[in-house]
Amino acid sequence: MAINFKDYVANVKDFPDPGIIFRDISPLMEDGKAYAAATDAIVDYAQAKGVEMVCGPEARGFIVGCPVAYKLGVGFAPARKKGKLPRETVSVTYDLEYGKASLFMHKDAVKPGQRVLVVDDLMATGGTLAATIKLVEELGGIVVGTAFLIELTDLHGRDKIKGYDMFTLMQY
Ligand code: AMP
Repeated sequence: MAINFKDYVANVKDFPDPGIIFRDISPLMEDGKAYAAATDAIVDYAQAKGVEMVCGPEARGFIVGCPVAYKLGVGFAPARKKGKLPRETVSVTYDLEYGKASLFMHKDAVKPGQRVLVVDDLMATGGTLAATIKLVEELGGIVVGTAFLIELTDLHGRDKIKGYDMFTLMQY
């Protein structure tokens, strides 16, 4: 039977701030069948794109991206927060609703010309995605696709990343 992925998302009102509905993917990760089916759906998308490397931002991008990379038989390149990567990095600073955030990647994480899939658990404003794409492209990678478990459509994140293909499993 087909899995209804939304059955595996916990919708938490007013977390972390009043007015926000936090879409918690923990139940999906904790169910072997649902986690595997979500991974397989992204793998199918990535295979059609000829993906050679997967990249995802800390921390839930790792949870989504690593099993995809493993199944594709390609590498995973993490985009991390400040102070986590020990070697030479490239970085990008981007705007959050309140304040700014930075992401870093090792300079040799992606090879020039490599076909990269960027993944995360959820796209809200698209700011994190735009920042991760910028890092991959600075390293010479070609972003051939992007994939998320969840897209919050009201926030129009897609508008921020026009020109890039996107696969999302669930929309709210
Ligand atoms: P954005 O940069 O605005 O697209 O935000 C995306 C990042 O924030 C992702 O890494 C998500 O994990 C997290 N995030 C934003 N909004 C939510 C939400 N309503 N529920 C769960 N995670 C969220």
